[in-house]
Amino acid sequence: MAEPALYPWLQPSFDHLDALRRDNRVPGALLIQGGQGLGKRSLALHFAARLLCLEPIDSSPCGVCQGCHLFKAGTHPDLKILEPEEVGKMIKVDQVRKVIQDLSLMSLYHGYRVIVIDPADQMNQNAANALLKTLEEPAPKNLIILVTHRPHRLLPTIRSRCQTLSIARPEKGIALAFIKEKTTISSPERLWTCAEGSPLRALEMAEKGLLGLRDQRFEAFRGVLKGREDPVAIAQTWAEESPVETLDWVLSWLLDMIRLSLSDEGPELLNQDLGEALKDLIKGLEVVDLIHYRDAVSGSRAQLETPANRQLIFEAVLIRLAALTHFERSVQRPKGPST
Ligand SMILES: [Zn+2]
Repeated sequence: MAEPALYPWLQPSFDHLDALRRDNRVPGALLIQGGQGLGKRSLALHFAARLLCLEPIDSSPCGVCQGCHLFKAGTHPDLKILEPEEVGKMIKVDQVRKVIQDLSLMSLYHGYRVIVIDPADQMNQNAANALLKTLEEPAPKNLIILVTHRPHRLLPTIRSRCQTLSIARPEKGIALAFIKEKTTISSPERLWTCAEGSPLRALEMAEKGLLGLRDQRFEAFRGVLKGREDPVAIAQTWAEESPVETLDWVLSWLLDMIRLSLSDEGPELLNQDLGEALKDLIKGLEVVDLIHYRDAVSGSRAQLETPANRQLIFEAVLIRLAALTHFERSVQRPKGPST
């Protein structure tokens, strides 16, 4: 494991955690929540590295002691990372039991024992219940860090036993400075907008060339809505390449379309670069249809995390998108509630 970076916008959060450590007030369970691409996990690991370092320099791990060596090798016996065995799968109860069992042993270095659970919302019901028992009886110098961008999916009983640390999107200036430092992209501001203000998401988009893909997806989205593109053919393309990113973009366009429909005063948009195009798209659409449609797409987004057939998921999304203009208003509505 490489030394976890402490991104500039996370410094205040780290300082807060480090102050807890200095005051001997590190909680038994910490919930780090906030949007994707903000470095929540790296913050958890950086704090773990600090706790496990044997000869820290002020608030930083020294990088050379045995604790730091083991940390960097990913073999520190007092650090466990609990994550799904495969991306998108759930964290199982056996995995939770195993780390809890390890936690009950003495620290090999007489210091902290740290478990990082990421993403914590991927624990299945049994796994969450197994964890809950441990949270109810915290042991000294044991720290469980739950990391999630979907805290509402955690059991309320788990949430209530954690001290919460919310990570906010960094200010535009800080994020842009970071993006400019890390990429050679010619349009950092547009990248920042498309990544919805998440700096790490922006880097990922730059690396994977997702900015161009998003443009293509938006053209297809517009084409289907305007009846120029075949929803089934587009569904095939979308299901094959970057399906998750694609649906997240669709959801954010729809949210902006709803905002534009509800406000005459130039609402703040997630997709500022698409403002005019989105304004054009909402012409003739009913906001209530958009809201219902967005709910349906949210459901489809959840289905993407199951083994369900992706082609069918996207066909449902796109056929209904086409129907927003070509079916619901011209065919369904006039029939009235009796149908
Ligand atoms: Zn060290």
